[in-house]
Amino acid sequence: MLFKNNQGKPYSLEKMISGEKIEQSINALAKEISQNYKLVHLVIISKGANRFGLNLIMQITTNLTFDLLSVSSYGKKDTSSGKIKIGNLKLNIHNKNVIIVEDIIDTGLTIAAITSYLRNQKPANLAVCVLLDKNKRKEEIKIRQFNNLKIPDRFVVGWGIDYQERHRELNEICCIKFSN
Ligand code: 5GP
Repeated sequence: MLFKNNQGKPYSLEKMISGEKIEQSINALAKEISQNYKLVHLVIISKGANRFGLNLIMQITTNLTFDLLSVSSYGKKDTSSGKIKIGNLKLNIHNKNVIIVEDIIDTGLTIAAITSYLRNQKPANLAVCVLLDKNKRKEEIKIRQFNNLKIPDRFVVGWGIDYQERHRELNEICCIKFSN
């Protein structure tokens, strides 16, 4: 099927990861988190990680609370500019065991910015749980990281992740292929 982006450029979607594999990965992450914390507070990065975060909440067996934090990058959406706008938390994270729940980590700039924003609010400890990892780090992640699925350097959508607000509903991860 052919789609058109907001600029009228045609593209198609190629399947990269099945829904089954994503579910298995989320179950494993939820198990690891449950084994490591008695009480945990999830900060889910909106909107891309909303679905992943809710999946985790349904699988985690330990006591938890959660909040949504809206984060957006300035500039082009297909590469990270490193200029990141962070919204406001509704719940206090002081002295809590906080896990940042993010959809994708690439250069690490976004997680680094979120980490330093949250550190200022003095949580007891801070970790990150990411669904997909492109592994092109410019910024080392210095906090505990729960394992994730390694993916090639392609622009992906599905499972809550969008391209120009579309394709969040896909029950698999697909990459975007522009037609010539
Ligand atoms: P980083 O700052 O680590 O380079 O990039 C991570 C940020 O860019 C995340 O907020 C993530 O949502 C966004 N991002 C990175 N790769 C993709 C992608 O393939 N698709 C979408 N929709 N967002 C991406």
